[in-house]
Amino acid sequence: MQLYSTNNKELRVPFKEAVFNSLPADKGLYMPVIIPTLDAHFIQNLAQFTFQDIAFQIASALIGDALPASTLRRIIDDAIDFEAPVRPLDSGTAVLELFHGPSLAFKDFGARFMSRVMAALSQSDERVLDVLVATSGDTGGAVALGFLGVPGTRVTILYPKGKVSPVQELQLTTNGQNIRAIEVDGTFDDCQALVKEAFNNPELKAALRLTSANSINIARLIPQTFYYFWAYAQLQAQGIRKVVFSVPSGNFGNIGAGLLAYKMGLPVEHFIAATNVNDTVPRFLQSGRYEPRPSVQTLANAMDVGNPSNWVRIMDMFGNDREALARLVSSYTATDAETQDAIRAIFDRYGYVACPHTAIAWLAAKRYRQRHPGTYAAVFLSTAHPCKFPEVFPEELAAKIPMPTQVNDLEGREKQTVALEVDFDAFKRYLMTGQ
Ligand SMILES: *Cc1c(COP(=O)(O)O)cnc(C)c1O
Repeated sequence: MQLYSTNNKELRVPFKEAVFNSLPADKGLYMPVIIPTLDAHFIQNLAQFTFQDIAFQIASALIGDALPASTLRRIIDDAIDFEAPVRPLDSGTAVLELFHGPSLAFKDFGARFMSRVMAALSQSDERVLDVLVATSGDTGGAVALGFLGVPGTRVTILYPKGKVSPVQELQLTTNGQNIRAIEVDGTFDDCQALVKEAFNNPELKAALRLTSANSINIARLIPQTFYYFWAYAQLQAQGIRKVVFSVPSGNFGNIGAGLLAYKMGLPVEHFIAATNVNDTVPRFLQSGRYEPRPSVQTLANAMDVGNPSNWVRIMDMFGNDREALARLVSSYTATDAETQDAIRAIFDRYGYVACPHTAIAWLAAKRYRQRHPGTYAAVFLSTAHPCKFPEVFPEELAAKIPMPTQVNDLEGREKQTVALEVDFDAFKRYLMTGQ
């Protein structure tokens, strides 16, 4: 697999380089030179295969030249070891649950696959891979649990003190082994600035083999295509072939992967980009003007993104043709009040408790159906388990949230974290010496 930069289509780098760099030096995004189309017969018969078989076919088509087939198969079987069920709610609506992995969010797909790909692409004589990540919650948990115990890697997570939920904090801080958590007395932006400075620091770059687990990494995008095909397979098994996906979107990596799946031949009728009031993309699809704004805090905080970093990739896939894109992708925005109403409505109708991000996707799907009646299944993606956001729910609903084993397993585990001021020299010392 060769990749170019969205800022320089002449550039060619191999998959390994794209994985370890995350970003090209020109600050574009890596895109595959060739997006392979999967065999039509395979797609028409997806229902005959397992999730892992389908994932292997997709990964082979994209990166089969970068890793031996047996290695790729082992990575997939190991990384994708949990379910992604489509649950029908009524005759035209279903939810694709992507929260059955260790961190209870869809980011597990990207993080687990990327960690194993990074380990497989590392030579045995290379130094330990030092992964640095700043998190406001969900990313850190997925990366921590995704890399936990992966040989040849060490993860350092920076999170803002007091600003992540209790479940998220346990996921970040109770791992031990090759995972270290730093509690920064500051904001998420401070955490991100410290990580950025580390990547620019010549001494650290010389002493350590640093990499980021950034959401724009191509190795996080690829595994997210898997579950679009798998969802389609499950619907195909029920005789449904017309499918619309509604995707709760922040950085637009998830829906970007859906659109990549479409480009690879998955016959999706339409995509719905569901956002909270951070609505840069919905405004762009309407007006043609891309005007990012500072992010606004909402109940669906994993989607609080004012300038979605994957958007360039999506435009690139569609030749920067907004009208072509707007024919395939609709978008809807929900306020916090609408999100809360949607959570209540989903519960009243279906007895189903949805996390705020998921509720926004459901609401967008409902609005789309009202405008576009027809015979298709509207599948909204559930990106996280509701127990990760307890403060969002009224008590009566909160009491209905089943506690998954992943959370029960965390109870009583000891929090191991290092406290840090917003001080680059202290952070650097910690990275160099472990204290
Ligand atoms: C990260 C995240 C999102 C947004 O996904 P993008 O790929 O950034 O668009 C939505 N919901 C949850 C729960 C998340 O953690």
